[in-house]
Amino acid sequence: MIHKGGCHCGAVSYEVEAPEDLEVSECNCSICSKSGYLHLIVTAPRFKLLSGEDKLLSYTFDTHEAKHLFCRICGIKSFYIPRSHPDGVSVNMRCLDDSTIKSFRVEYFDGKNWEANAHKLKPLN
Ligand SMILES: [Zn+2]
Repeated sequence: MIHKGGCHCGAVSYEVEAPEDLEVSECNCSICSKSGYLHLIVTAPRFKLLSGEDKLLSYTFDTHEAKHLFCRICGIKSFYIPRSHPDGVSVNMRCLDDSTIKSFRVEYFDGKNWEANAHKLKPLN
């Protein structure tokens, strides 16, 4: 299933290949909790940026492993490169067109205590 998504103003748009029944995660770390981000983490080949590469700003902090990518026009982080899976892409499920989503299940990740919980992260397939 191909889901379409993007930022608020439409400058950033993409397609992501994922099931119609999604498994996403909610993280309580300092940045995810403030934005209410819902992570759909996929391997890089399942993600295709269609537009807006030149509109993205990158924000990093702490270990600087994650690349938080925001649209410079509307400020929305519709996807980014996560610390948990730097070879993959985390898509914000809240930025997907919901017409292709049949259901979703949320798992909680205690990213506030990253070091103690990193071993619970699943490899991507
Ligand atoms: Zn935008």
